[in-house]
Amino acid sequence: MAHGFPVENWWTAGQAELVEDRSLTWRRQQWNARDAWMSPDGAARPFGAFPDGARPPDDMRLVKDGWDHDRCQLCWETFAEAPHGQPEGYTDGTQRWLCIACFETYLTPRLRQANLPEDDSCPSS
Ligand SMILES: [Zn+2]
Repeated sequence: MAHGFPVENWWTAGQAELVEDRSLTWRRQQWNARDAWMSPDGAARPFGAFPDGARPPDDMRLVKDGWDHDRCQLCWETFAEAPHGQPEGYTDGTQRWLCIACFETYLTPRLRQANLPEDDSCPSS
């Protein structure tokens, strides 16, 4: 399947799955810093990283806008507030981001194909 669509031989299995997953809904959005949980040694996890009902460890504190960048899932391009990174990209709503160049190269052709009608015969009315 997916013959003719651009693929890269350096993709991990997870990256290939992400590109081929038609159940994901990608939206173009401005990137914004988010609140983050910060551990005493300075390691951060984005707010929401702990699923419902799971509490972060007691020694973590919530830092307003502490999550100051994300990475493109495919090329590792940085998203951050200007001038430190891309100000805009595509997200599937689960804190995963794709840069615009990757989205247009890899996702756009696949989504265009997926949106074509299965049956290409002309409807007669
Ligand atoms: Zn990218």
